[in-house]
Amino acid sequence: MKIALIAHDRKKEEIVQLAMAYESILREHELYATGTTGLRIMEATSLQVTRFLSGPLGGDQQIGAMIARNEMDLIIFLRDPLTAQPHEPDIIALLRLCDVHKIPFATNMGTAEVLLKALERGELRWREVVRKEEQA
Ligand code: PGA
Repeated sequence: MKIALIAHDRKKEEIVQLAMAYESILREHELYATGTTGLRIMEATSLQVTRFLSGPLGGDQQIGAMIARNEMDLIIFLRDPLTAQPHEPDIIALLRLCDVHKIPFATNMGTAEVLLKALERGELRWREVVRKEEQA
């Protein structure tokens, strides 16, 4: 599965904790992240993460391009609801594309944990079927 990890600045500590707690599950998958989030995760764990640009510089849009092609299987985007983000339109675009393709998307720790547990139990395997059908 291809998993994208993104966190706004005030949520970076949380996503690092999440990555550490679920490291053994995440290790089995292909991980992508925006620049700083990816760096923080790699510093704190032994996970390999493909890093895109930093969010404000277009990293969200790079992840969005993969979502548009229905290539991402799960998005964990820990958003800071209390701070205005300069790249808000990119974030909303990313959410919209996930809704277009019915891609599971967590915007907070509570949902993120539920989805990672589902991933561990193999409950997101339907995504493989979807992707195979797209390629056919
Ligand atoms: P960052 O980007 O991981 O490079 O900080 C995240 C974001 O703000 O979208």
